[in-house]
Amino acid sequence: MMMNYSTPTGIASYVYCPRLCYINKLFPYGGQKTENMMLGSFEHEVFAKHSELSRLDWENQNKFSKYENDSNNSRIDKVFEFAIKISKENYPHFLDVLKNDLDTLRLRLSILDSTRIKQATELINKGMSFSEAIDLVLPWQIEQKFYSEKYRIKGRADSIYKTIDGGLLVEDIKSHKTRLNAFIHKDEHKAQLTTYAVLAEETYQRTVNNAQILYSQDLSTEKFEISEDDKFEIIGIKKESEKIIEQGLPPKLEGEEALKCQFCYKKEICFGLDERTDDEIRDDVDFEPLKIEVKT
Ligand code: SF4
Repeated sequence: MMMNYSTPTGIASYVYCPRLCYINKLFPYGGQKTENMMLGSFEHEVFAKHSELSRLDWENQNKFSKYENDSNNSRIDKVFEFAIKISKENYPHFLDVLKNDLDTLRLRLSILDSTRIKQATELINKGMSFSEAIDLVLPWQIEQKFYSEKYRIKGRADSIYKTIDGGLLVEDIKSHKTRLNAFIHKDEHKAQLTTYAVLAEETYQRTVNNAQILYSQDLSTEKFEISEDDKFEIIGIKKESEKIIEQGLPPKLEGEEALKCQFCYKKEICFGLDERTDDEIRDDVDFEPLKIEVKT
C-alpha cells in the first residue's frame, strides 16, 4: 500500500494558511528561488558545519585554551571553504551574494563561539565536567532526519540539544531579515517545532518539552515550551492537512489575517489561481504524490 508522508513544514504551512498548504502540495517546487532563500540555505550549511567542527575540536580537549579565538578562526576558515564549495555546486548564480555575507557571518560565528564558551564555563563552575558542559552547549544531533511510520511524518530538524534535566530541545535556524517577518510566522514556527518534538520523542524515547528558533541574522533565540496538549493538537492538525487536496482550493485569507499574504513566498502563485478550477490547476501541474513505499 502506498501512502504519502506529511512533513513538519507542510503541517506548519497549514497553520499559516490552509491555502498555502494546498498550493505547496500541488506546487512543491513552485515559486521563485529568491536571494533571501539562497542566503538562508547557505547560512544553514554554515551554522551546521561550524557546530560539527566545534564539537570535533572540543571533544579532543579537556579544557578551553587561551587560544580559542585562533582555533575558532581556523574553524570558520574551514567552514567557509566547505560552504563555498557546496554553493558553487548548488547556487552558482548567487555566489557573489553569498561571498558578500561572509564578513558578517565570521563575526556572528565568533560571537556564537564566545557565547558557547561562556555558557560551558558557567556549567563547569557549577561542578560539571568539561565534556558534560560542551555536550550541553553544542548540538547533540545536527540535520537529524526523522521518518515516523507511526505518525506518517518525515522531516529533518536543524539541531537537537540535550537539556540539563535529561530531555531534549529541538532547534530550527531561520534567516528572517526583519523582526516583523519572524513575528508573523510565529505560530507556524511553533507548529513546525512541535512536530519535530513529537518525532524526536518517538525516535529517542526522551521527553521534548522545549524548542527554539535561532535567528541566524542576529543570533537571538525565540524559545517555545511544547506541552503534551500541543503535541496532541499538532497530530490533529496534521490529519486535517491531509484532507486539504480532496476538499479543494481554500479561499484566500481575509481581514487581519490577509496581512500574512505580504510575507508569503507563494503569493504570486496564490493570487494567480483565482480564475481557475481545481481540475484545471491539477491538470496544469501534473501533480504526482510522493512515491514512498512503506510496509503496512
Ligand atoms: S498569499 Fe495569502 S492566501 Fe495566498 S497562500 Fe499565501 S498566505 Fe495564503
